[in-house]
Amino acid sequence: MDWRDNLIKIEPYVAGEQPNKTDFIKLNANENPYPPSPKVAAAIREFDAARLKKYPSANAVGLVKAIADREGLKPENVFAGNGTDDVLSLCFRAFFNSDKPVIFPDITYSFNTVWCDILRIPYETIPVDADFNIDPADYARPNGGVVIANPNAPTSIGRGLDFIREILENNRDSVVIIDEAYVDFGGVTALPLLKDYENLVITRTFSKSRSMAGMRLGWAMGGAEVISAIYAAKDSMNSYPVDSIAQAAGIASIEDEEYFQATLKKVISTRERLTKELRLMGFKLPDSQTNFVFATHPDISAIDIFNHLKTKDIYVRWFNKPKIDNYLRITIGTDEETDKLIDELKELVVEEKWRKREHALNSGWIGE
Ligand SMILES: *Cc1c(COP(=O)(O)O)cnc(C)c1O
Repeated sequence: MDWRDNLIKIEPYVAGEQPNKTDFIKLNANENPYPPSPKVAAAIREFDAARLKKYPSANAVGLVKAIADREGLKPENVFAGNGTDDVLSLCFRAFFNSDKPVIFPDITYSFNTVWCDILRIPYETIPVDADFNIDPADYARPNGGVVIANPNAPTSIGRGLDFIREILENNRDSVVIIDEAYVDFGGVTALPLLKDYENLVITRTFSKSRSMAGMRLGWAMGGAEVISAIYAAKDSMNSYPVDSIAQAAGIASIEDEEYFQATLKKVISTRERLTKELRLMGFKLPDSQTNFVFATHPDISAIDIFNHLKTKDIYVRWFNKPKIDNYLRITIGTDEETDKLIDELKELVVEEKWRKREHALNSGWIGE
C-alpha cells in the first residue's frame, strides 16, 4: 500500500484553451462576445467598499428576490450560487444519495461525470442517437437521478416541453435536473412544469446569456422542498456564499431586461448567419438553440480545421472523444469575429476542393 493509492484519481474537467496572448479570436468557451449591461458596470463602480468588511448575505437574499420576481416565482423557489457549476455540485450532493445510478446522456456537459466521480455517485450514461438526439423513453429505467442539459451541449440541440414532460413522467421517484445554461438563446424552458413536478430542478447561469462568466453566478429553481435541500447541502459543507459585489452585479443584470434581450437578439442573428454560411461551405450542423454551433465537414477532418484556425489565431473547441471527434464546437462571436472565421473557413474549403480536383486530374479520373 502506497500513499499514492489514496490520491484522487479523476479525469478533471478541461476547459477551452486560454492562450497567453491578447490578439486572437476566442470562440472556444461559449462566452458572450458582448459586455454585460452598463448597469452591471455601474453597480460595480458604485459599490461601497466599506460593505466588504461584513460577510455577504449568506443566502443572497436580494439576488434571489430579483430572480424570483423576474421568473414569477417566490424566493423559496430560488437558490443562487457561484456559477452553475457550484449550484450543480450542491444539487448532486443534495439529491443524488441513492445506490442506483444517476443517468444522463453520453454526449452532454462533461462536468456531470466529474462531479459523480469526485462525490462517488454511481452513474450511467445513455447513448444519444446518430443525430445526437436524446430519446426520453431511454430515461424510463430505475435510477438515482436524471440530469439533462436542454438545450444540450455540445450538440446545440434544444427540445420542447413534451420532451421534458415525458422524462418527468418516467421519473416520479427521482430528482430531475434540467440544466438551462443556454435556454435564453432560443430554447424552451421547463419553468411551466415546476407547478406539476416537485422533483424538478432547473439551473441557469449568468455566464453565457448575461455575459458574466468572470463573475461566477448561477441559480437553481424548483419546489420549496428541493430548494431547501440545496441550502442544507450548502450550509453543511460549503461556506462560500455569493460575494457581496457579485450579488450587486447580478441584481443589476437581472433588472436590465432590455439590454439582455438586445444582446440575445444580436447573438442569435449572428448564429443564423454563420449557420447558413457554414452549410453553403458543405458543413453539416444541427439547428442551434444556443450561442454556439456544432459542425462537421465531410471532406476535412475537425482536428485539421481546428489546427488550421489556430494558426490564424482563431480558437474553437475540439473534443477528443468518441462520436464527436469529427465535430467542432464554435462559439458565436461578434459579427466581425464571425466574418474573419467565415473567410478563413472558405479559404480552407476551397483549397481542399482544389487539391482534390488536382489529385483526380493527375490520376486521370477526370479530364476534359
Ligand atoms: C457553461 C455551462 C454551465 C456552467 O456555467 P457556470 O455558471 O459558468 O458554472 C453549466 N452547464 C452547461 C451545459 C454549460 O454549458
